[in-house]
This record gives sequence, structure tokens and C-alpha cells, in this order.
Amino acid sequence: MRRALVLFIALLAGCGGVRPPPAEWSLAIHGGARNFAPGDYTGEQLASLRTELGAALAVGAQVLERGGSSIDAVQATVSAMEDSPWFNAGRGAVFTHAGTHELDASIMDGSSGQAGAVAGLMRIRNPVQLARLVMERTPHVLLVGAGAEAFAVEQGVERVDPKYFYTERRWNELQKALEKEKAGQRSTREAYFGTVGAVARDRQGRLAAATSTGGMTNKRAGRIGDSPIIGAGTFADARCAVSATGHGEYFIRHAVAFDICARTRDPRISVGRAAHAVIFDVLRPEGGEGGVVTMDDRGVAAFEFSTNAMSRGRIAAGSAAAVAVLADENLAPPPQSRSSSKSSSKEKP
Ligand code: ASP
Repeated sequence: MRRALVLFIALLAGCGGVRPPPAEWSLAIHGGARNFAPGDYTGEQLASLRTELGAALAVGAQVLERGGSSIDAVQATVSAMEDSPWFNAGRGAVFTHAGTHELDASIMDGSSGQAGAVAGLMRIRNPVQLARLVMERTPHVLLVGAGAEAFAVEQGVERVDPKYFYTERRWNELQKALEKEKAGQRSTREAYFGTVGAVARDRQGRLAAATSTGGMTNKRAGRIGDSPIIGAGTFADARCAVSATGHGEYFIRHAVAFDICARTRDPRISVGRAAHAVIFDVLRPEGGEGGVVTMDDRGVAAFEFSTNAMSRGRIAAGSAAAVAVLADENLAPPPQSRSSSKSSSKEKP
């Protein structure tokens, strides 16, 4: 009889019938997907990138540990990544064809279904903060360009000189892309990397997601990718949260973030499995590369990506932060920062 019972429980677990208890709180991030070529980053730079991921996780974990909401946690985490020159968002955003910056971001509260987004910003230090204000203080979901900047002024959101967004790496990436364009070659490898995103579950079980980006290097003025499009680059509901990174046009055409969550309405399909199917069975056959970070209502995080690298990390109540960059690398504790400067690393991105 006892053996039969043990067998029954084991069978249930195998079918996904027994689910582990939820993490009290949980946070997962990505810092962009990309196909690395040897020499793109030195070993020291990769270590610094991992340190930056750890620093971002620490910011959101602090919010969640003291009982803060998942929406506050994803906003704080993404803001920290926007302030770091290591990511293609805020400070380290990529250049447009015209040598300018146009920033996009979005945020969604899975418990209320509310969302806010901004696109084409040229002077806003933390686009994700403005996206949150669009959600809370306007009847709209998405504000773009001059109207969004005017809203920022009205709300007293911090604006910066456009020079703030200049980084040498991104400038060199643009020059390379322009040269390739002149030679008639397509340049997608350098085009994107470093978009940031976060998903979180708080102590009340509420999910939230946020994404922020400079878009793709050498993009046309006015081009808007998936990151500020609710349902494409960002989505959250009561059971599923997603933030995406990759070649945005594909993510928009396939409503990737929404599709992942919609698939999980079938209780037999986990969020991770749905993400795998969308990235590999829908996007990849078309040549759409990139990845997602996802979270389910128990705080279980999953990372799915088709590139050979995606900066990523997770932390949860009672378990330490773990980060990774390359595809064939396991999540591991981030290296400690060796510097006390605002960006936690001495290496240059
Ligand atoms: N998805 C972003 C975009 O297309 C780029 C990225 O993820 O790096 O704008």
C-alpha cells in the first residue's frame, strides 16, 4: 500500500502534478541576447558584465526582500541597468544611423493588467520610470517622441544632455555598421545586444515585467522595436511574466511575449516550455534571433534564447544571486565588484 502511494506521488510529480511551493519572492533579469564572435569581449570584460548583472539583481532583491511590490522591483532593477554603460539601455544605448539615440521602454503590472510604455526618447535618463508614469498618470499606454518628452517635463522626470548617452563601444559599433552598409553587407551581428529586462514575483504573488532599450545599432530615425510594445517585448498577467530581447521586428510580428503567456492557459504547459516553443519553433525558422526571461506564478524563472549569448541572472528569497552570459555557461554567483564607483566595474564596456 505504502509503495503504491509513493509510486502514485512520483507519477504525479513526473506529470507536473505536484508543484514546488512558491518562492516568497523572485527576480530574474536579462541584459540582452547576441551572437558573440571570439574577441568581442575580453575575459575581464565578461567578468565585469557578470558583476554588473549581480549589482542589478541586488537592487531589485532589496525592494522585494523588504516587502516591496514586483512592479517597484522591476522598475528599480531596470533603472539600475539603464544607469550602467554596460547595457544597451539608458546610458549605454546604441546609436541610430544619424548618430543620435532613441530610447524605448515599457512596464506591465500582471496583477492589475495595467501597462505603460515610451518610445523615441532622446533626453530621458531612465525611460522605464517614464513608462511607469504613463501607466499611472495618463489614460494611455504608449507615448512617443516629443509628446513623451513634454510629459516627462510636466512630471519632473530627470532629463540629460544627449551627450550623456555617448559611449565609445557603441560609437565604434555604429562606425562598423556604417562601413558594412557602404560595402553592401547586412550587419545584424553587432546590431543588437544589451537591451535589459526584468520579471519579478513579490511576497503577495504579484508578477510584473519591464524592458528598456536603445534599440538596434544603425536603426533609422523613428524606428521602434518590440521593447515598448506590450505583448511583443513585455507582457505580464496573473500567471506569467515575460521580457524579451533580440531582433525586434520578429518579436513584434509574432507578439512573442503575449504568445508565450497565452500558451500557458493550457495548464499542462509551463511558462518555460511555452517560451522554448516560441523562440525555437516560431522565431528561429524565420531567422528571428533573440531570447526571453520568463517567470511563472510560483516565481520559477526560465531563460530561453537562440543566440550564443544572453546576459542573464536570477535571485530569490533564500537563494543567492546567480548570473551567466554565454549559452554554454551555467548560472553562478557574480564576481564581486572591485570598484566603489557608480558603475560597479573598472573595466570599460
Ligand atoms: N529588441 C530590441 C529592439 O529590437 C533590441 C535588443 O533586444 O537588443 O529594439
